[in-house]
Amino acid sequence: MRNIGPIVLLGSPGAGKGTQAKRISARYGIPQISTGDLLRENIQFGTKLGAQTKDAMARGELVSDNLVCDMVQERLHQPDCQRGFILDGFPRTPAQAGWLDAFLEHKFFENSHAGGTPPIVILINVDYNQLLRRLTGRRTCVANGHIYNVYLQPPRVDEVCDLDGSKLVIRNDDREEVIRERLTAYEQQTWPVAQYYRSTGRLVEVDGGLPADQVTEQILEEIERRGAVTADGH
Ligand code: AMP
Repeated sequence: MRNIGPIVLLGSPGAGKGTQAKRISARYGIPQISTGDLLRENIQFGTKLGAQTKDAMARGELVSDNLVCDMVQERLHQPDCQRGFILDGFPRTPAQAGWLDAFLEHKFFENSHAGGTPPIVILINVDYNQLLRRLTGRRTCVANGHIYNVYLQPPRVDEVCDLDGSKLVIRNDDREEVIRERLTAYEQQTWPVAQYYRSTGRLVEVDGGLPADQVTEQILEEIERRGAVTADGH
C-alpha cells in the first residue's frame, strides 16, 4: 500500500471537514484524526484532559495549544498513522501550525520512507449564511457520529439515524449562541492559519458550497495531483 502522507483539512465549523475526512479516510485507508472528536471522547470518559477542556469547549472557545498539541502528538505516534493521516480541526491557531511543521520535519517520518513529507493543506470554503444553516440544522447520531441536517439532509424518521437506528442529538456546541462564538474563534484564530499556508504556497482551496460528492471529487483530484504518491512510487 502506498504512502499518502499528512493531509490537513481547514475550514470553518460546518464547512464539511468531518464528512470529507471520513471519505478520504475510506478511500486511502488512513485514519481521520479529529481533535474535536478526541476532546469529546476525553470528556465522555472523564479523563483529566476532558476535565481541563470541558468548560472552554462548552463556551465555544479554543482549548489551549499545549493541551491539544500533546494530544495530537500522542495520537500521531500510533502505528496506524505510518502511511499518512487526515487532520480535521487541527491546526487551529498559527502556533499549532508551527508546531505541526516542526513535528513533521524533525520527528514524525524519520524512520519511514516518506522523510519530512509536508502536509497537503486543503481549505474548504463555504459562505457565512450557508454555514449557519448547516450548523443550526446539524444532528449527530449518538452511536456512531453519523451526521444529518434537518434542512438539507434529513433522516427518514425524525430524530432517528437511518443507518443504525440510534437517537439523533444536537451537539452541545451546535446551539446558536455557541455557534456564533465558534465562528468568531474561527475568523480570529484559524483564518491566520490559512494565510500562513497560503503564504508558503501550500494552500489548496475547494468550493465547499457544492454538493458533498463534488467537494470530495475536487479534494481527491488535488490529493492525487499534489503527489500523494510518495516513496514507493505506486
Ligand atoms: P470541532 O468538533 O472541530 O468543531 O471542535 C469542537 C471544539 O473543540 C472547539 O470549539 C474547541 O473548543 C475544541 N477544539 C477542537 N480542535 C481544537 C484545536 N485544534 N485547538 C483548540 N481547540 C480545539
